[in-house]
Amino acid sequence: MTALLALNALTVAYGKLHAVQDVSLQVAQGERVCLIGANGAGKSTLLKTVGGLLQPRSGSIHFASQSIGSLPGHAIVARGLALVPEGRGIFNRLSVLENLELGAWLRRDRAAVRQEIATICERFPRLGERRNQPAGQLSGGEQQLLAIQRALLSRPRLLLLDEPSMGLAPMMVEAVFSSLLDAHRGGITLLLVEQNAQLALTHTDRGYVMESGRITMENTSAALHDDPQVRAAYLGVGSL
Ligand code: ATP
Repeated sequence: MTALLALNALTVAYGKLHAVQDVSLQVAQGERVCLIGANGAGKSTLLKTVGGLLQPRSGSIHFASQSIGSLPGHAIVARGLALVPEGRGIFNRLSVLENLELGAWLRRDRAAVRQEIATICERFPRLGERRNQPAGQLSGGEQQLLAIQRALLSRPRLLLLDEPSMGLAPMMVEAVFSSLLDAHRGGITLLLVEQNAQLALTHTDRGYVMESGRITMENTSAALHDDPQVRAAYLGVGSL
């Protein structure tokens, strides 16, 4: 497997607290990979580090075979990696349209960007109808859709998502995940952090389990879903 993203012995710390410890993980081109784990396991820290928001203490991060561990976030976006952070990172006072345009700030093909934004507004009428309203007025689910579409406008090869289902009503979770599956069908590789293990394992090919900063299990998502330990700890069921 040629990895699109490869983390090797990655450690990330906040002062003395090692939130991510010696983590190695790969994501192949075209894969959908999830990272599950309890509150505080270090999942967000890991994703933020890959996205360039935090610097690793040690270890390496390679994207498309190039080291990105010491690059700032904007340089990482330019290389084809986009992060949809926990809490979405929407600019509340800017309009829906302005938020979308920000996703494409590095692109020069303005006509194509305009066309893609028009397509987004058609495909997601809730966004289209509110295109000139402040994004802060959207519902949580609409904001998540906006954050994902904004990230896709940077034309990433790899999309990193931190808890995309958090706080959403079931119908919106479905809409958000169906937009992710569409993006995957369009050729985008996904790395998804989720506390909702059921959701994560049913929408991905492979998964990692993280506990106290370390990866403790790695398998296909189907095998993890059937694993008695995973079922007891993360799916809330005793046995098959
Ligand atoms: P959650 O699902 O609750 O977001 P998580 O698995 O994403 O959990 P992290 O948010 O990465 O976990 O947190 C990992 C550890 O690092 C926790 O002990 C947390 O308290 C700590 N931590 C997170 N952010 C900071 C920070 N900015 N400063 C200090 N400690 C932090």
